[in-house]
Amino acid sequence: DQRHTCPIQTPLYSNQAPPTLMQLARQRLLREENLIISTLEELPMGLLPAMFEEAFTDRRINILRAMVSAWPFPCLPAGTLIKDPHLEILKALLAGLDVLITEKAHPRRSKLRVLDLTNVHQDFWSIRAETQEGDRSPQAKRQKQPVEEICPNSGVKKRFKVVTDLELIKARFNKCETYLLQWAQQRKGSIHLCCRKLKIWDSPVFAALQIFKNIDLDCILELQLSQWSLEFMAQLFPYLEQMRNLHTLVLEGIPKPFRFAASAEQGWISMLLSQISKLPCLQNLYVYNIYFLTGCLEEWLRCLKTPLKTLSITDCRLSQSDLDYLSQCLNIRELRHLNLSGVVLSDSCPKLLGLLLARISSTLQTLELEECEMRDSHFIAILPALSHCFQLTKVNFYHNNISLLVLKNLLRHTAKLTKLAQELYPAPLECYEELRILRNKFKLLCPELLDILRAKRQPKKVSFSTRTCLDCFHSCFFDLEARLCLCPFQHI
Ligand SMILES: [Zn+2]
Ligand SMILES: [Zn+2]
Repeated sequence: DQRHTCPIQTPLYSNQAPPTLMQLARQRLLREENLIISTLEELPMGLLPAMFEEAFTDRRINILRAMVSAWPFPCLPAGTLIKDPHLEILKALLAGLDVLITEKAHPRRSKLRVLDLTNVHQDFWSIRAETQEGDRSPQAKRQKQPVEEICPNSGVKKRFKVVTDLELIKARFNKCETYLLQWAQQRKGSIHLCCRKLKIWDSPVFAALQIFKNIDLDCILELQLSQWSLEFMAQLFPYLEQMRNLHTLVLEGIPKPFRFAASAEQGWISMLLSQISKLPCLQNLYVYNIYFLTGCLEEWLRCLKTPLKTLSITDCRLSQSDLDYLSQCLNIRELRHLNLSGVVLSDSCPKLLGLLLARISSTLQTLELEECEMRDSHFIAILPALSHCFQLTKVNFYHNNISLLVLKNLLRHTAKLTKLAQELYPAPLECYEELRILRNKFKLLCPELLDILRAKRQPKKVSFSTRTCLDCFHSCFFDLEARLCLCPFQHI
């Protein structure tokens, strides 16, 4: 990273601006480790966030530890700086907190209450705004809110809070997570370990239960359960209702149990749906490759407490009655993101898709219908509603069956949607002969298609794509220029 090299060694062709006097001063200070540690209390507060970042990038363990214990702000969003989990850095951060937990002589200026290790937080640099004296911007004010507000129900008040995401994959946490969990366990009295996002992927029940028992379930905002078989997953369901602040639930890849009676299976499914219906804050539901969704979408959606913002049903099978229900479901009336990619719609009544879209046209921001086996009739059915989706920023219609005539019509409609920043369209059927891609035709047609959009607005990110070529297993793309499949050129 050139920002941290000595200015004299910075090559002339560097496009980085020359370091400012402040940067040079910080770099010089960082080299004087003992000096900086002994004078941390004296340094201007405004200097600390940038120094922390430099020390973090340069892995100056001793300085980091000292800075954590002398941190003069309530929150340290260190997670925004973590690119790859690094155990030595984590140890230094936690050792810094240990000073505050154990020692009686408290660093004078220390105000630290929250060490945030997640990277969904605000930009690390924005805490500088707060350090500028007299900053009364709304942004600075927001960051001065007491930390308790973000953590609604953590039970007993603890002195310090460490915010993190956790991923249990095949019964294992990574090195950093393992260390953090042990560290927090040993300091239970003073540390609230606040897990915001929990992913449990293909793990034995006991490992999942162990983590459920060791964290506050009401702090979890996002839960992902992947690759679980239903009979084991069912043992986790009773814990779901304790996740009172859960706003995002991801269920992924649940195979059908084969050894159990249908009644047991039905019992587990009912238990899951009843738990989901009790979640008071659920706003985003992602369901990927779940066999028992088919035919009971109404049961999934009818009893939700709040209208959904995101509904993603991908690689699942939906019945006609599911689509029928979806098109009139009240709980999707404020939907912002709809993804039905991989759901086969070829046999569904095109009218339903049009009704569905009409219901959510005022709020919808992203619409993904990739590989749905849609035909001309489906596209024609959604056009009237689509042209009223003025909030749309992304559409994805890749890999569907559309004729050139209807595609042109589709583009004339999307051309009026001025907020679209990303648009993915399928190549028209005219670009295929049987299963083969007519590459020259594709190359020839795409500029013409693009011009339909350009007649109304300047498209930001637009791409046309063919199906996968059966000879080379690549597709042809056209964004602003053609990227053809990898077959030798004599191939059509
Ligand atoms: Zn919490
Ligand atoms: Zn090819």
